[in-house]
Amino acid sequence: MTTTPGDADSDDTPADAGLQEAFAFTCLHCGHGWEQTYDVEIHLDADNREFRYYYADGKRVPPPLMAECPNCGERKARILRAGVVAAVLAQMPHHKHGTHWRFHRHK
Ligand SMILES: [Zn+2]
Repeated sequence: MTTTPGDADSDDTPADAGLQEAFAFTCLHCGHGWEQTYDVEIHLDADNREFRYYYADGKRVPPPLMAECPNCGERKARILRAGVVAAVLAQMPHHKHGTHWRFHRHK
């Protein structure tokens, strides 16, 4: 019998909090380049801090900063660019300048 302190699985996180992000990577180990689109779920923890789950092809995957190279398996991927996916852009008939997705990073 297993006891789980505080049944954390029963929270009702809204399922529609997701968005999609696309990243282009290059591997610093073998030079392989690839792109990956992620489904992103944004959650807040008990202290209202944001954390994200990343999914690719319906499976939970490491965040882009820890992406594995599909060629050599090393975690030395470097993000070349990040953007919203084509599915979102396709909704705009002419996607104009100025709606670039920025990747913010705190130091
Ligand atoms: Zn590689």
